[in-house]
Amino acid sequence: MSDNFASLDLPPGQLANLQQLGYEKMTPIQQQSLPLVLAGSDIIAKAKTGSGKTAAFGIGLLTKINPRDFGTQTMVICPTRELSTQVATEIRRLARYQQNIKVVVLCGGQSIGPQIGSLEHGAHIVVGTPGRIKDHLRKKTLSLSRLGILVLDEADRMLDMGFYSDIETIIHEMPDDRQTLLFSATYPDKIKTLSSSFQRSPVEISVESVRGNEKIHQQLFICDKRERLAGLQRLLMNYPIESAVIFCNTIKLVKEVCDYLVDIGISAKAIHGDLEQRDRDQVLIQFANHSCSLLVATDVAARGLDIEDLPAVINFELPREADVYIHRIGRTGRAGKEGLAFSLFTDSEKYRFDAISTLQENKLNFESIGVLKDIDRQLAAPPMVTLCISGGRKDKFRPGDIVGALTGEAGMDGSVIGKISVLDFVSYVAIERHAANDALRGLEQGKIKGRKVKIRKLR
Ligand code: AMP
Repeated sequence: MSDNFASLDLPPGQLANLQQLGYEKMTPIQQQSLPLVLAGSDIIAKAKTGSGKTAAFGIGLLTKINPRDFGTQTMVICPTRELSTQVATEIRRLARYQQNIKVVVLCGGQSIGPQIGSLEHGAHIVVGTPGRIKDHLRKKTLSLSRLGILVLDEADRMLDMGFYSDIETIIHEMPDDRQTLLFSATYPDKIKTLSSSFQRSPVEISVESVRGNEKIHQQLFICDKRERLAGLQRLLMNYPIESAVIFCNTIKLVKEVCDYLVDIGISAKAIHGDLEQRDRDQVLIQFANHSCSLLVATDVAARGLDIEDLPAVINFELPREADVYIHRIGRTGRAGKEGLAFSLFTDSEKYRFDAISTLQENKLNFESIGVLKDIDRQLAAPPMVTLCISGGRKDKFRPGDIVGALTGEAGMDGSVIGKISVLDFVSYVAIERHAANDALRGLEQGKIKGRKVKIRKLR
């Protein structure tokens, strides 16, 4: 695949513009996305801010705009005002080779009057946040009946912020035969739901590389088969990591490892396919919001995990396939942070170690687990506690309502509130451990959206 912009079917004016902007070569996400965007395919692209993702869709969508038609032809929905502004600025830069392309930003927190004024004269491209776009649709100051391309940017963040139903409402105003481009830093299950509802045979794109990422420090230990659990304990005592996923190849082993850790007083939870959906949600939420330190998982179950930057991953056993190893350790060392990837393996799994070493094109070293000191210590409890609230999306709860109840009537300081997850019928809020009981009492005594709710502290 070429990384040269000239290999794409772009107008000469755009090639000159890109040169002026100093874009000499395509970034990996652009190399993979642009040909598909130009060909009219739907895509799900795993890409973060900084990867050149705006140009990965921006260059493509600009080739499809008809400047003489002032109807809104493209919409980019973003989670925040900052991102909307950033995206609009980048699109305007990329649009310089064409005259008269109008980009309008529609975000909340700004007065709606001037936005209505801009829309009256037509806007080829609208960039904005879900709430405000919905407001304009309701007021009929924006029409999406001629929309050809929809971009959902940082889709995972939008879902985290509870925007699913707003996005749904907006999309219902668009023609079905549009092209939909979805960008997301992570691939939790809810992104799959979003995609299957609103995309047509999307092509998945990911720029994860198989080469060793130098931000990930890989440490591999060989141990005796019977000493594997003790080896894991030794590892955890030597490296008291705040949060890690421990991968096992089978459900049976996931349960065994988790039981062992809980028995020795370590905060751990298991996740695997035998759990009910509700329990699975709860475990993932508790881990993601720092109410549980270690998550013991099978590869399949870990896919639902929506976490940007795990400080560490541990392979309790090496996976059967080398690329699964790359995938597992790729969950750490992201977003410019350092990551730790520990692995245990036995002599009979040495061939897996060799395969991994070959695939990464760098020689890996290993040591005997015996080189680590035998330490006995109490690991710190996780910093947060999760409260489960009896009410969710179906009760029109939003994260803001829960923050409001906690900081309003319950009198809590906003700084003790962690991640909030609103599901259909229940919601979860993480509270700093020392403040959890006060928060529980406060919520029990108050109301959310005018309703009394039941609160439960999760273990
Ligand atoms: P983004 O991930 O879209 O936020 O882009 C990150 C930064 O990279 C922006 O400042 C872009 O202007 C810049 N950029 C995007 N594509 C390229 C490219 N092919 N070459 C050089 N810079 C780029």
